Amino acid sequence: SYYTKAKFSTSAPDILHLDQSSGIEVAFAGRSNAGKSSALNTLTRQKNLARTSKTPGRTQLINVFELEEDLRLVDLPGYGFAKVPLAMKLKWQKALGEYLQKRECLKGLVVLMDIRHPFKDLDQDLIRWAVGADIPVLALLTKADKLKAGKRKAQVLMAREASLAFCGDVTVHAFSSLNRLGLPELERKLDEWFGLEKPIVD
Ligand code: GDP
Repeated sequence: SYYTKAKFSTSAPDILHLDQSSGIEVAFAGRSNAGKSSALNTLTRQKNLARTSKTPGRTQLINVFELEEDLRLVDLPGYGFAKVPLAMKLKWQKALGEYLQKRECLKGLVVLMDIRHPFKDLDQDLIRWAVGADIPVLALLTKADKLKAGKRKAQVLMAREASLAFCGDVTVHAFSSLNRLGLPELERKLDEWFGLEKPIVD
C-alpha cells in the first residue's frame, strides 16, 4: 500500500507550531487509548511508527509523518484524560479549534473511537468543530474485533444513525488493528482526501 511509505518527519509542541502548510494533510485524533497509534501502525505496516503508549496524561507532541513531499499524516495528542488540568484542556481545545478552522492544507480528520462507546462528549465536540470548519470526518470505530459480528454491525448502524446529527460529511466504519477489518475503507478514504484515487479504467 501507498501508506507503507510513511516516514517520521517532525514533532511540534502544539498544532499552532506546525511548520509546513503546503500540500495536503490528514489528521488523526481520538481519546487516549482509543487505538490511534495502533491504527497508524496498521495503516503504515510499521510496528513503531506511532508509539503505542500506556502512560496517560503526559504532554504529548504532535507527530508528523510524511508519505511524500507535501502529503502528510498528522498524529494529534490523545484527549480525554481526567487528570489533565482544566487550563491545559482549554488551551488544547482552543488550539485544536484554530487548527481545524485555519489549516488550509487539512483535507480530512480521522476520529478514532472505541466501538463499544463511540461519540463521547469530547468526540462530539471535535466532530462538530470539524463539520463547522467544512473538514470531512472519518469516524473509525476501533477494536471492532472485541465484538461479535452481529453486535458489531448493530454498533456501526447505531453510530451511522448518530452521525447524521452532525449534518456534515461524516463517514462511519468499523476498524480493527488486530485483524485489519476496515483497513481498505480507511485507505480508500485517505486516497480520496489525498487525491490518490486510481482512475477508472474500462
Ligand atoms: P492510543 O492511545 O489511542 O494511541 O491507543 P493505542 O493504539 O496505544 O491502544 C490502546 C490499547 O488498545 C492498547 O492496549 C492496544 O493494544 C489496544 N488496541 C488498539 N487497537 C486495538 C484493536 O484493534 N483491537 C484490540 N483488541 N485492541 C486494540
